[in-house]
Amino acid sequence: MRILVTNDDGIYSPGIAALARAAAEFGDVRIVAPDVERSAAGHSITTARPLTYKRTPIEGFEAYRVDGTPADCVALGTHNWESVDVVLSGINLGTNLGNAMWHSGTLAGAKQAVLFGLRGIAFSVPVGPDEPDFDGLEEPVRRVLATLLPADLPLVNVNLPGPDPVGYRWTCQSVRHYDGAVIPGTDPMGRSHFWFLVKPLEAADQDTDRWAIEHGYVSMTPLRLDLTSEEDLEAARSRWPVK
Ligand code: MN
Repeated sequence: MRILVTNDDGIYSPGIAALARAAAEFGDVRIVAPDVERSAAGHSITTARPLTYKRTPIEGFEAYRVDGTPADCVALGTHNWESVDVVLSGINLGTNLGNAMWHSGTLAGAKQAVLFGLRGIAFSVPVGPDEPDFDGLEEPVRRVLATLLPADLPLVNVNLPGPDPVGYRWTCQSVRHYDGAVIPGTDPMGRSHFWFLVKPLEAADQDTDRWAIEHGYVSMTPLRLDLTSEEDLEAARSRWPVK
């Protein structure tokens, strides 16, 4: 099995090396990732200039740093390495739960794989004052891969609470609240500026991704790329017919 590994924290993040080590048990691993951090880049692609890359082996893995986004990396990585079976993205420093999926560059790497007809799995972990225990995370990541790699699921968003989860759960996306906030401030020159933050929520509905992480479970959310609201489409066609 050929496994392409990417992320949005940049190729020198400790999270991508941990994911590559965990994945190596399941197949041939190659790393293709952004040369600098691209967190919250979402699913943006680079179209106004060409992409370049440089070889930069990491812990014995064949690896390439790209001057582009996570989606660019998956495009370049699958172009230059034929017959990739699955794209793994992460392990991201910070969860990607609920509506954060809209902004996530980590998830975009996995989504881009699906756009190419491949499978994608995104991995994220919470960050506190200290760096996550990436060595300890390898075992739960391997357990997730042992479940997901043989499964016929095109796209899965995985969040890990830490190295010692209380269990593993299939979850749905938490969409009840949007937790974005704009915080005004002033810079040293006296000019006003604004921080766009996504704040953590206090509670979430049971069996959602956020609920699972709050209760110490590994959250595995199967996703699809079709955003069509079937319910609204049906209502629109019957109630507001157009010619
Ligand atoms: Mn990130």
